[in-house]
Amino acid sequence: MKKNSARLEMSKEAMKSYGYQIVDALVEHHSTQNEKLPVALGSREEMDSLFLEEAPEEGTDPTQVLNFVLEKVMTTSTLMSHPKSYSFVPGPSNYVSAMADTLATGYNIFSGGWAASPAAAELEIVTIQWLLKIFGFPKKKGGGIFTSGGSMANLTALATARRIKCGDDFSKAVIYLSDQAHSSNIKAIRVLGFKKEQIRIIPTDIEFKFAVNKLKNCIAKDRLEGLHPFCLIATSGTTNTGTVDPLIELANICKKEGIWFHIDGAYGAAAILSQKGKQLLKGIEKADSLTVDPHKWFYQPYEMGCLLVRNHKHLSHTFTEKPEYLRDIEGNTSEINFYDHGIQLTRRFRALKFYMSLKTFGLKEFRDAITYNIDLADKVESKLRKSAFWEVVFPATLAVINFRYNPIEKNYSEKQLDALNQYISEKVVASRKALLVTTLLHGQVVLRMCLINPRTTLEDIQETFELCERFATEKEQQL
Ligand SMILES: *Cc1c(COP(=O)(O)O)cnc(C)c1O
Repeated sequence: MKKNSARLEMSKEAMKSYGYQIVDALVEHHSTQNEKLPVALGSREEMDSLFLEEAPEEGTDPTQVLNFVLEKVMTTSTLMSHPKSYSFVPGPSNYVSAMADTLATGYNIFSGGWAASPAAAELEIVTIQWLLKIFGFPKKKGGGIFTSGGSMANLTALATARRIKCGDDFSKAVIYLSDQAHSSNIKAIRVLGFKKEQIRIIPTDIEFKFAVNKLKNCIAKDRLEGLHPFCLIATSGTTNTGTVDPLIELANICKKEGIWFHIDGAYGAAAILSQKGKQLLKGIEKADSLTVDPHKWFYQPYEMGCLLVRNHKHLSHTFTEKPEYLRDIEGNTSEINFYDHGIQLTRRFRALKFYMSLKTFGLKEFRDAITYNIDLADKVESKLRKSAFWEVVFPATLAVINFRYNPIEKNYSEKQLDALNQYISEKVVASRKALLVTTLLHGQVVLRMCLINPRTTLEDIQETFELCERFATEKEQQL
């Protein structure tokens, strides 16, 4: 037989040169990204004209492929790490973790089972323990798992809640969440096969918090009808306004009713590292399960979510299967196989980036960065309140602020204000100078900033407001 030359390899020299080119590009990006335009735009037609082709039968020079990617792909993606990316929940990331991810991928570490990579499993155990302590969860009994993101953490939580509270029969099970809960929860509920009649979306009050009285009525009525209330999803840091649900009250209701208490803290929970956040998040330690999303406010690159649980056995009871082909690597009970704690078998080594960035910078630097973010949003709020052009629609909460252009003495109608603010957002995004989109609060079109990037400065924000005001004046001529 002919010697196999199809080994997908490069020479040592070629690997070095290729790797260095990538590192050079990354360093260049990290040291200049603040000055770049954050927003990338492109239609399907434009992207097709750049990239659409048949899979090439023959290879191309690696540097040529790399340069094409650097020029066309990397420049045509919105920079969620940019200081002027204010929308959705940005991903500020950090260089150390990006390099850690490169290592994890470079070694292609399988982070599924203990036997395959004890150190990787141990680092996941250790970093999960750091998080358990940060959130006041029981250290010995508690547990958790890293996931691809908040959506998967929520799905993992709800699958666990159902397994523990309902066993095999969930025909009468009912789940409660507020109208401000993140859409990923509804997706997860649907994936799990619940019917529409099993979901209760509870209204929120004027501050977008779970309306507790309505919830109590709803649970009582469901019990009267012979249904089984089994899970409640609270949010600590709603995506729209940063609102934290009344966690202690909800925890008490869940305890009394025997309901699983899940808290979705995907973006907001990290605020616990600051003094203000700690106050707002009181009660978070009472959750049966808690979603946090390190690829948001713990400054990790994508993809990294996390689910913490009060009792690690709840995860293993839900996800352990013992197929014959894994029998030789089961290990003993203290040696956790993370494939038994979640949905994935083959898993990338996510813990590494969290571990390396925390070791490198220290928890204090994370605390300071998060505190800076919260203070920055407070400063933006007072700035807006002092301006004759702007109205604060919802005060700064966990580094999120909602506002709109509404100059005093102009007395614009609600319809005109909606049009104005929609226009501002569209023009700002089209200028590519900032990612600033709208949301709806009580039916009003508002601009929203999520200020979790520690590289965002007050000057960045001032520049963005000036840009907004220019576009606003433009639109006012047409009103
Ligand atoms: C972002 C977010 C999610 C979803 O997390 P992904 O990492 O995007 O999957 C869920 N809940 C809340 C509150 C969020 O802010």
